Amino acid sequence: MIIPRRLPDALRRAALAAVIAATAGAAFASRADAEQTAKQIFGAASLPAALPARPIGFYSKGCLAGGVALPADGPTWQAMRLSRNRRWGHPDMVALVERLSKDAAAMDGWPGLLVGDLAQPRGGPMLSGHASHQVGLDADIWLTPMPNRTLSAAERESISAISMLKQDSLYVDDRKWTPAHARLLMRAASYPEVERIFIHPGIKKKLCDTWKGDRSAMGKLRPYYGHHYHFHIRIKCPPGASGCKSQTPPPAGDGCDASLAWWFTDEPWAPAKPPKDDKPKPKPREMQLSDLPAACTDVVRAPALASAAQAPFGSAMKPAPVAAAATLPLQGPMPEPRPVR
Ligand SMILES: [Zn+2]
Repeated sequence: MIIPRRLPDALRRAALAAVIAATAGAAFASRADAEQTAKQIFGAASLPAALPARPIGFYSKGCLAGGVALPADGPTWQAMRLSRNRRWGHPDMVALVERLSKDAAAMDGWPGLLVGDLAQPRGGPMLSGHASHQVGLDADIWLTPMPNRTLSAAERESISAISMLKQDSLYVDDRKWTPAHARLLMRAASYPEVERIFIHPGIKKKLCDTWKGDRSAMGKLRPYYGHHYHFHIRIKCPPGASGCKSQTPPPAGDGCDASLAWWFTDEPWAPAKPPKDDKPKPKPREMQLSDLPAACTDVVRAPALASAAQAPFGSAMKPAPVAAAATLPLQGPMPEPRPVR
């Protein structure tokens, strides 16, 4: 929000106080009114809903009850961009990040994870970046190893991840890529709860061409735009999580085939064709709270935990048992390549 400079001082102060109260979450539920878009509502929530942990809806159209935060520091990870307050996830997701960090350090020669965005405290759509990451089952991990010192909060805002690609190319730069990168990615894909991993096509190709170990999880590595500075782990709906919509599993096979070769043609990178009738396209309508599953309104209205410190952290927390599993058909926009011709 921008407060106009020409307002008299007293008014400016009052306006500023209102903004601070709103962003502090004090007036969160009451501000969740009809004219706010879903991303404004969920973007303003600074603390999780005090409810049992539960992912609601689909990765790109849903929200999160009972989110827990990945601690900013662990023995084998450091969370980045702390100011974004996107370290929240379903307990299974947070536990998976912790486990990967530990396994990779112990077995893969990867000293620790630099962790990017998980989800907002109550999940939901975000004001910037990411179509998915809405239900607490997605996490971004940098392709840059953790340094052997604790980064300051300022460094965690300013340090950039390193692209794995040769400049202006779709191919991996062998001066940056290491066997430990390959081991980290294949380790992440190997966990049964991991549904898929989004990674740049050039990195997928590198793995297809060079990986000599077990390839049974290779098919979970899905080539997609971006994702050469970081990779994106998506886990399955936890067993018994009613109202969590699963994604259609990736196709069988290792994916080192025509579907990968397509990414090295011009088609996926060509600019979108202008519409034939030359009419400007109407701007897509912003997602409203009413477009999300009804249970997300309960998540918005639920009281917040009194402080982030009250959120039960990490793997010590077990999700509340729920009744029935639901695998519903795929809905909504999703990060998947256009179909192969
Ligand atoms: Zn992501």
